[in-house]
Amino acid sequence: MYIVQIASECAPVIKAGGLGDVVYGLSRELESQGHCVELILPKYDCMRYDHIWGLHDAYRDLYVPWFDGWVHCSVYCGWVHGQVCFFIEPHSEDFYFDRGCYYGCNDDNMRFAFFSKAALEFLLQSNKRPDVIHCHDWQTGLIPVMLYEIYKYHGMANQRVCYTIHNFKHQGFGGTDILEATQLRRPEYYFSYDKLRDNFNPFSINFMKGGIVYANAVNTVSPHHAWEARYTTISYGLGHTLEVHQDKFTGILNGIDYGFWNPENDRYLPYHYSADSFEQKHYNTKALRERLLLREENKPIVCFIGRLDDQKGVHLVHHAIYYALERGAQFVLLGSATEAAIDQWFRHEKEFLNNNPDCHIELGFNEELSHLIYAGSDMIVVPSNFEPCGLTQVIALKYGTVPIVRGVGGLVNTVFDHDYDQAHPPEERNGFVFYELDNIALESGLGRAFDLWGQNRKIFEQLAIQGMKYDYSWKNPAQEYIAMYDRIRHQ
Ligand code: ADP
Repeated sequence: MYIVQIASECAPVIKAGGLGDVVYGLSRELESQGHCVELILPKYDCMRYDHIWGLHDAYRDLYVPWFDGWVHCSVYCGWVHGQVCFFIEPHSEDFYFDRGCYYGCNDDNMRFAFFSKAALEFLLQSNKRPDVIHCHDWQTGLIPVMLYEIYKYHGMANQRVCYTIHNFKHQGFGGTDILEATQLRRPEYYFSYDKLRDNFNPFSINFMKGGIVYANAVNTVSPHHAWEARYTTISYGLGHTLEVHQDKFTGILNGIDYGFWNPENDRYLPYHYSADSFEQKHYNTKALRERLLLREENKPIVCFIGRLDDQKGVHLVHHAIYYALERGAQFVLLGSATEAAIDQWFRHEKEFLNNNPDCHIELGFNEELSHLIYAGSDMIVVPSNFEPCGLTQVIALKYGTVPIVRGVGGLVNTVFDHDYDQAHPPEERNGFVFYELDNIALESGLGRAFDLWGQNRKIFEQLAIQGMKYDYSWKNPAQEYIAMYDRIRHQ
């Protein structure tokens, strides 16, 4: 099968969070299972060019229809760790991708509407006719719309489109200007509730809703989150749309790329280890302590890695730091805040705890350090408010770091409580789960982990080793995606 992935991220060259990991990992696995995969991405000025091999211009003059005229673009081609990628570079005064950031501009909706239009135009003009176009999140929600309303009539009638939602919280909104820009003319047609009109704001179109309405298949990134999206308020107003389109909506659990996330050969680790040589892990703990100037003592290290954001349960993360210190553990945090107020708050905490030999707060995005933290910690805390899939707990499991998670979304599908899980026998359990979104619940989960670490280290280590043996690679999820592609190809 010939598959084109269109997304705003691809790790490690463009990574703001899990979306980048998923786009890269899934593409690699699809290729290794015999399919042809190409990626189309924006050519951001600030992406990691050092991870692209052989970047060259592949399509010099791409004219993208935009408002009443055209925008001249060039398309570059290069390999990101073996995966062929096309990068779209617009030459206009809007400098859509020359902003020194991936997201967070006032005109993000226009930037990614443009990217979606340009990606389809590139396929059209370069005569690429994939069997399946797979697009991701709100940034590419208009692709299924434009495919079926415009490009179908220009020679792309046989292409099918699959739409994956990684996060319902960000849906992409706009007004008639977006429709004018993308040449989806007839605003009265698109501004109907069965098309793009937002379910709650009658003056706005909703990109993600468009993706759901027009795509041939829609999924989110774990079975439990698919259930939550249908039956709770976590789909941020799209529940009715999912109800109407329920026949094409599923949940497929994300995997991780064990070529990149594997303590046996991780390029960023000073010491390699596996489930059979678990005792080697503690050399990484030592290295982590040396690097972050933590005191060398017989204490467990708890970590948090992720965006400091309401979604991730920042208040509980904050409480976890002080609870861990109170219980005589050490805490390492690596995170970047998505809002100025949260950034300020954690900068203040960093200053306050600066001289504490049991705590380190690292603010910013640091891929290399994240690997050492996964390997060097004993536990990871993931107290998310909601979590479509969550990758940090899955990565931690592979590194023998016991996850303590809140039982929501994909965390439910990946972490099984040491004491209470009903569906798995004790030898298949791998972490600790709590449910309420409050300090007491967090303390119950984290407290049980500390108790086990303190009272029965052998069983704690056994739990970590059981976690390392889980297979959360892309092998099975990729097969589920292939089955989905096959289904829509024959529609
Ligand atoms: P998200 O909701 O942000 O997509 P996920 O758990 O799905 O969360 O994925 C997070 C990914 O981003 C993981 O690979 C994690 O290691 C990485 N990550 C998050 N924050 C940081 C950071 N500050 N530095 C390095 N890597 C990070």
